[in-house]
Amino acid sequence: MKSLFPKYSKRQEGCFTIMEQKLLKQVNNLILDNSRCTGCGICADSCPEEAISVGPVGAFRRGAIEYGSAVQVDEEKCSYCGVCTVMCPFNAMKLEIDGEPSLPIVEKEGFPVYDKLAEIDQEKCVQCTKCENVCPREAIVREVPVFEGTDRCGLKKAEALRSENEFVYNEDKCTFCGLCGEICAAIDVTRKPISAETGEVTGEVKWNPKLCDGCLLCAEICPSEAIEVKKGKISKRKKNKGKVHIDKEECCTCRWCAISCPTQAITVEKLFEGEIEFHAEKCPGGCSTCVEVCPANAIYVPTPKSPADMHGEIEPNIAVNKEFCILCGACVNACPGEDIIVLKRTGLRMKGKEDSALFKSVKEKLLTSRTSKVRESKDEFGEVEVKAL
Ligand code: SF4
Repeated sequence: MKSLFPKYSKRQEGCFTIMEQKLLKQVNNLILDNSRCTGCGICADSCPEEAISVGPVGAFRRGAIEYGSAVQVDEEKCSYCGVCTVMCPFNAMKLEIDGEPSLPIVEKEGFPVYDKLAEIDQEKCVQCTKCENVCPREAIVREVPVFEGTDRCGLKKAEALRSENEFVYNEDKCTFCGLCGEICAAIDVTRKPISAETGEVTGEVKWNPKLCDGCLLCAEICPSEAIEVKKGKISKRKKNKGKVHIDKEECCTCRWCAISCPTQAITVEKLFEGEIEFHAEKCPGGCSTCVEVCPANAIYVPTPKSPADMHGEIEPNIAVNKEFCILCGACVNACPGEDIIVLKRTGLRMKGKEDSALFKSVKEKLLTSRTSKVRESKDEFGEVEVKAL
């Protein structure tokens, strides 16, 4: 007879797949956020119960199939231990006990966690926008006031600088026409009430040095040549308000930001050590699935060279920039070819107790070298298999 408890179920809520194990006094949920899942399969390698399988990574990441997800969890095989939650480098898995995020495997058993180093030195950071632009995971949080260059309501551009300009207007020449005030926020032209007694328009021109960026447009536009701007030294302000930082939950340690930072303000250490090899001569070309699934934007189709520049070489169909590769393995899972991509991890960056039998077996599986293989088994249709080396 089937026992009453535990009861198992699986449901889909938006981009979340929710696995449930209902015990008499406790409800365990393993929640997979499909929008974060990259199909790297690290969860499948880490699962002590072999409850996770990797599905059609390329098709799923491309959005070619709306149902299902890049990985499938068998809710009845799963022991709700949370090892996959700990080991997912993309924070796509969450374990909840009675509706609260919880990881007893870390708290009670001392299972190690990733030692993620991703920091920005605020002294060196010049708050430019480069890291935000190159980051493939939207992990850069730029909490810096915007300027009018990007937002019409933002700070005036002169506030980005320290300028020592001088503005003088010649009262005898000025007609208080107001043109200068129309074009520049630093100038305010006020007119006195008009009176038929004098029949003249008079007033005052006020200049705010904090808003002047020394562009000299006011002097150019003045029809009476009444304005003179003496351009003084314009220097950079030491720092704008706010800060740029890295959201470690989102960061995949690809190092795009660290490598691109113009002031070397960013330190990021990769989570995995090892090597990736691309045997481009075996790639048939025209597929680019690996390019599309790579969460670190490390894989590319090389720009074709002109025949004169080829010097008898064969143009590679695919290539990887190893500086950015995070050795996650999503490309190996997605590649429909054989022996094209070879992943060899040699180390993991962890902190905590690493000597448990459970962690040792997880580590052993993650450090097993692998490559893609052509899938032929009809029984395992839709399930990704790789070749262990
Ligand atoms: S290391 Fe990569 S993912 Fe992390 S913040 Fe930098 S660019 Fe983004």
